[in-house]
Amino acid sequence: MRNVANIYSEAARAGRKPISFEVFPPKGDLTLETAREMAGHLAQVHPDFISVTYSAGGGGNKQATAAIASMIQTEFSVPTVAHLTCAGMTEADYAHAVAELHELGVHNVLALRGDLPEGEGERAAYAPFTHAYNLCERLVTDGFCVGGAAYPEGHVTCFDDVANIAHLKQKQDAGASFFITQLFFDNDCFYRFREAAQATGITTPISCGIMPFLSKQQIQRMVFLCGASLPAPIIKLLARWEHDPASLRQAGIEYACNQLVDLAKQGVDGLHVYTMNHPDIARAAVCALRESGQV
Ligand code: FAD
Repeated sequence: MRNVANIYSEAARAGRKPISFEVFPPKGDLTLETAREMAGHLAQVHPDFISVTYSAGGGGNKQATAAIASMIQTEFSVPTVAHLTCAGMTEADYAHAVAELHELGVHNVLALRGDLPEGEGERAAYAPFTHAYNLCERLVTDGFCVGGAAYPEGHVTCFDDVANIAHLKQKQDAGASFFITQLFFDNDCFYRFREAAQATGITTPISCGIMPFLSKQQIQRMVFLCGASLPAPIIKLLARWEHDPASLRQAGIEYACNQLVDLAKQGVDGLHVYTMNHPDIARAAVCALRESGQV
């Protein structure tokens, strides 16, 4: 299956921007079957790749990540990226994860630290995989094509813009060959971040992660979790459609589509849509980009 780094370099040569989708393993017993159905819908719009999230704790289904990534690339011929988190990972856990990825033929991995146990703060980051770049380095050595997370507005636990970029550079130096950003609602934040990243010597392609807001509760949760700023137009849309959930959802999808088109016009390296397992979001994003002539 295709190496995601090659997808970026071939797209850049052709003047294209790769479009990718994020999905998460559906919860419950029918995980693979539900994922297969969803992947079928997503494959119809021909994304460059699909990434599958990993949940180390709580209600998530971490066993399913590699299996779903493998199923999507085998059955739908869409390249995949399996997310993998390393908070609390032991050498034995690492060996197990790598063996499974190799066995299932999954070659592209998004190396992440994952969130630390609540209440323990940054103290709970354990060696040997203290930060994502440690995992990145190991996966590259073990032959994987590795990506990392980027934070246009900084990570919620990083209060210094210079350190934020330095930590990204560390992932590049560890061998990351693509980055995907945390969601953001204000494109200007991304343009400032891109400028600072380039000035620091970051040359690795960065895909912009865009998530439509679908409800007031969801956006409040996301803003709290990842610290994304809420521009005034979104606050106005939330107020305008407060009592009309269907219109609010539609407004959220349209806002995200406009963001994607603007980013494409500004020549970003790639566009990544947080689909939240809703194929209609993926379709709307791709239609908007193709209609704008930007991809
Ligand atoms: P790191 O790069 O290790 O950063 C963590 C913190 O440490 C940051 O504050 C950073 O600035 C700081 N830091 C980094 N390097 C150093 C250093 N050398 N010295 C001091 N401080 C440092 N979570 C999941 O559980 N599953 C997923 O599937 C998942 N997918 C994601 C996909 C994307 C695109 C993004 C943006 C995030 C995703 N996350 C996922 C969330 C992510 O795991 C959390 O944001 C996590 O808290 C940080 O992960 P990281 O890989 O950025 O870690």
